[in-house]
Amino acid sequence: MREEARHFETELAVIGSGIAGFAASIFALNRKIDTAQVGNTGAVAYTTGYLDLLGSIEGSGVAVDNPWDGIEQLKKTHPDHPLCQVPAGDIRKGFEQFTAFLGECGIAYSAPHDSNLTALTPAGTLKKTLCVPATMAAGPKAFAAKTPCVIIDFKGLKGFSARQVVANLQDKWPSLSAERITFPAMDKGEIYPEVMARALEVPATRQELAVLLKQAAGDAKVIGLPALLGMHEPDKVRTELEQLTGLQIFEIPTMPPSVPGIRLREMFEQVFPQKGITLIPQQKVVSLDFDAGGALLTLSDNYGPITIRCKAVILATGRFLSGGLEAHITGITESLLDLPVTQPENRTDWYLDSYTDRRGHAIHKAGIEVDVSYRPLDKNGTPYNECLFAAGIILAHQDWIRGRSGAGIAIATAYKAVEAAEKFLHAAHALHK
Ligand SMILES: Cc1cc2nc3c(=O)[nH]c(=O)nc-3n(C[C@H](O)[C@H](O)[C@H](O)COP(=O)(O)OP(=O)(O)OC[C@H]3O[C@@H](n4cnc5c(N)ncnc54)[C@H](O)[C@@H]3O)c2cc1C
Repeated sequence: MREEARHFETELAVIGSGIAGFAASIFALNRKIDTAQVGNTGAVAYTTGYLDLLGSIEGSGVAVDNPWDGIEQLKKTHPDHPLCQVPAGDIRKGFEQFTAFLGECGIAYSAPHDSNLTALTPAGTLKKTLCVPATMAAGPKAFAAKTPCVIIDFKGLKGFSARQVVANLQDKWPSLSAERITFPAMDKGEIYPEVMARALEVPATRQELAVLLKQAAGDAKVIGLPALLGMHEPDKVRTELEQLTGLQIFEIPTMPPSVPGIRLREMFEQVFPQKGITLIPQQKVVSLDFDAGGALLTLSDNYGPITIRCKAVILATGRFLSGGLEAHITGITESLLDLPVTQPENRTDWYLDSYTDRRGHAIHKAGIEVDVSYRPLDKNGTPYNECLFAAGIILAHQDWIRGRSGAGIAIATAYKAVEAAEKFLHAAHALHK
């Protein structure tokens, strides 16, 4: 059978389905820009669900309590950092719009406040983050109040150990204890968070689990669980379990791939088409060409070839893990347009000797350069194309892992890239009137 070619026309195309790509589509939707998004599976399925703005000053290892003050400090020591280029008011608006959208679509988040929250990691260490899913919100509160609490894990579930969480936190949270239970109808072999989360969408599984949780909680009124409370309606699953048990319940992120990340991806894949966004998920753009009218994206899926013609495009393809950057023997390249990548001069300078060196490795700051309008620069230092914009961790001069700033960089720069793209689209529209 001959494959049928499909063609879409849109004002804005977003390439990438990480937090930057999804945020860009949300901001474009809020600005009523006709948008198409193409993204291959990427790091969003690995994320903990926490939205970090700035949890640490890169290179210092010092935790940041107030990320807004932290950014002011960052301006003195890391003036090229992408977060230092975005006014605080715009970062806040970006977080507000992003979390509000998630809440409207069924995954409630805490709003961005003035201080970071102290949240639990899968290993029971602590990290600073700005916004957490509502399913996790009781964790930082219980930790802050040192409320007696039981951390529960499941027989057969690897990568999450209640005993490990308790062992790592016992100095700071003495009234914490661990219990292991058997997940309903999963009493044999290895079990997986994604499967457990989907099982909890069935009311009978919730009722069975509630009985087991109540027994395991003993006298405690608060319990922490690995993040698996449903895939599509986590707030409803948690609320119902709380009603059934009479306990306060919070989720703790698990090792990747994680349910909170998959939740976000599946929610966007369901909601974006309903809101009018042309979404082509799980696919890679293979070429991006420019002409006087804008850009042409070429890709294909199981049904055949696809082309998307747009007037402006946002590149949000991430770094190595997601394929936006590639590391070769000869150096680091940008994979779609071969944009120049700011990187250490020699390959031998990519890493310091010790992997855990607090200063961080130079390779983790590699990325592309943009101008004040978030247009990627070519090798002459001028915009590659006036209709091309970029956002997210593909941008140079930041080590988001050490800065605990993954979502912050993604959301803040997506906000600015969409703002710049809208300005460009309006100017182009006025010219052609
Ligand atoms: C293990 C792990 C844990 C994390 N935990 C946190 C956390 O606790 N808090 C936090 O704030 N952040 C966290 N992050 C970071 C966060 O998930 C994002 O990686 C980060 O916010 C950057 O987002 P991004 O959209 O710029 O890039 P990415 O998330 O890397 O997304 C890039 C996207 O582009 C796609 N892509 C690449 N090339 C193409 C192409 N040619 N065509 C189409 N699509 C393409 C990729 O498939 C991917 O979907 C974590 C990340 C990982 C890996």
